Amino acid sequence: MKKLIAIDGPAGAGKSTVARLLAKKLSYLYIDTGAMYRAITYFLIKEGINYEDLEALNQALKKIVLDFKVIDGASVIFLNGKQCNEEIRQTIVNQHVSPVAKISTVRHFLKKKQRDLARSTFSVTEGRDIGTVVLPDADLKIFLTARPEVRAQRRWKELKEKGIDLPYKEVLENVQQRDTIDSTRSEAPLRPAIDALLVDTSDMSIEEVVNFLYQKAVEDD
Ligand code: C5P
Repeated sequence: MKKLIAIDGPAGAGKSTVARLLAKKLSYLYIDTGAMYRAITYFLIKEGINYEDLEALNQALKKIVLDFKVIDGASVIFLNGKQCNEEIRQTIVNQHVSPVAKISTVRHFLKKKQRDLARSTFSVTEGRDIGTVVLPDADLKIFLTARPEVRAQRRWKELKEKGIDLPYKEVLENVQQRDTIDSTRSEAPLRPAIDALLVDTSDMSIEEVVNFLYQKAVEDD
């Protein structure tokens, strides 16, 4: 059994769903690191803080307390004592999260928390830099990807199911913009670790991906 599992990849590759289901199947803790970047971004927007002003950002980070509670096998994020799952998925947060996640102080603020949480137990941690930076010693590293149009289509459908009806073109543009920022930033850019297993999910169902990864997690090397 692999104890520490890292799943990385671009927006819409199916990471969240796959990581959550895989963790459930293995009875591991599921950690969504994107939610942590989103919670910080949400706080900055809510408080009207200009995150390009480093001094203001540093002051703001001091006012942020992030807690993680394990609810139904998943680490659920609490921002200053409040659960904020709905708020962090808003369009405005989608638009600002990648610029915020580029900032070095923000990444340092979260890295240790993510590491400690992941190593505290058997876990599946999902993000952009888990296999490369947060858990370079992970026992299994997966890089999930899919064609941009497929990823945007999935995001569009997911949003529609939540009652958010955006033009497909807008969703595609946001996915592409986030990919560009995430993969070209100087610190912890989105890229597969050299020892990561690359999985293109464009033509696979969620169930197929989860079953495939489950086999990899339980098989002996
Ligand atoms: O996974 P999700 O789409 O919720 O992540 C939101 C954003 O958070 C990403 O587009 C990326 O900019 C940032 N992120 C990151 N590193 C991680 C997880 C997320 O930079 N480990």
